[in-house]
Amino acid sequence: MEMDDKRPQCPICHDVARVPTRIMCFPCVKPKRGPACNSLSRVCWTCARRYLELDRPKHQRSNGTKRCLTCPAQVHTSLLEEREALDVDYVTMMRDDTTDYHCPWSEACSFRGSQQALEVHLLDACVCRPYVCPLCDEWMRHDQAAEHVSTCSACTTCLLCAHRLPHIELPQHMHNVHERTWCNQCSLWIPTAHMERHLAHECPQRLLTCPVCVTAVRATEWIQHLASDENNITRQMNHAMTRLQNCTQDLQRLHAAKMEVWRQHYDTSPSSTELRAVDC
Ligand SMILES: [Zn+2]
Ligand SMILES: [Zn+2]
Ligand SMILES: [Zn+2]
Ligand SMILES: [Zn+2]
Ligand SMILES: [Zn+2]
Ligand SMILES: [Zn+2]
Ligand SMILES: [Zn+2]
Repeated sequence: MEMDDKRPQCPICHDVARVPTRIMCFPCVKPKRGPACNSLSRVCWTCARRYLELDRPKHQRSNGTKRCLTCPAQVHTSLLEEREALDVDYVTMMRDDTTDYHCPWSEACSFRGSQQALEVHLLDACVCRPYVCPLCDEWMRHDQAAEHVSTCSACTTCLLCAHRLPHIELPQHMHNVHERTWCNQCSLWIPTAHMERHLAHECPQRLLTCPVCVTAVRATEWIQHLASDENNITRQMNHAMTRLQNCTQDLQRLHAAKMEVWRQHYDTSPSSTELRAVDC
């Protein structure tokens, strides 16, 4: 770098500030008098974003504080919004006619160009620019997005064709590609054409009505239920038969007792003694 270089130096990477940016989020941004801490210095847009953790979703930030680059003022990173925290210095960018700025992620990216071209590159084209998975909110490099699908927690693998897709798109995929419908009774994908038959006759979780106790019973528990009803009825029948036997015996005893009364009545009645007397 030449000695008369007037381009602002980034206090973070100590190189010429690429996409020079002013940091605006510290309380020292509006001093009572004199220039504010960061009004004269410019940092690289990517250095500022990394320093303030703006390059990742809020829930993945460290939930700590960051210090102003020149004074002890601090700010919480957890709720910072990029629009309020950073201000790209387009005036300085336009005055800069250097055209060989390399991408800050030059180890993985071969871009070279002007400040303006670099800004567009960082926002829309660089393979290293941050990417947030819209399904699981995980933060990664843009070129890792394609392979992230294989591990994304919000995605699932189709059991029929091994295709990876978001959970919420699985019913549509099953319907369109495999002509299957989800049975929410038995949690299986059933061929859509057989769904009616499945629910009526095949689903192990379908409900059957017991003809004896009129209870709704799952098909998986049907045999067990019938056996249990059979046991109950057999027990009731045995009980009833014992009761019938007891009643029969009681009646026999009663009849015997009544017969005894009649017998004694005939044996002691006056007519019978009279008859006996006549006989003698
Ligand atoms: Zn920098
Ligand atoms: Zn400050
Ligand atoms: Zn790049
Ligand atoms: Zn994801
Ligand atoms: Zn599939
Ligand atoms: Zn089912
Ligand atoms: Zn029953």
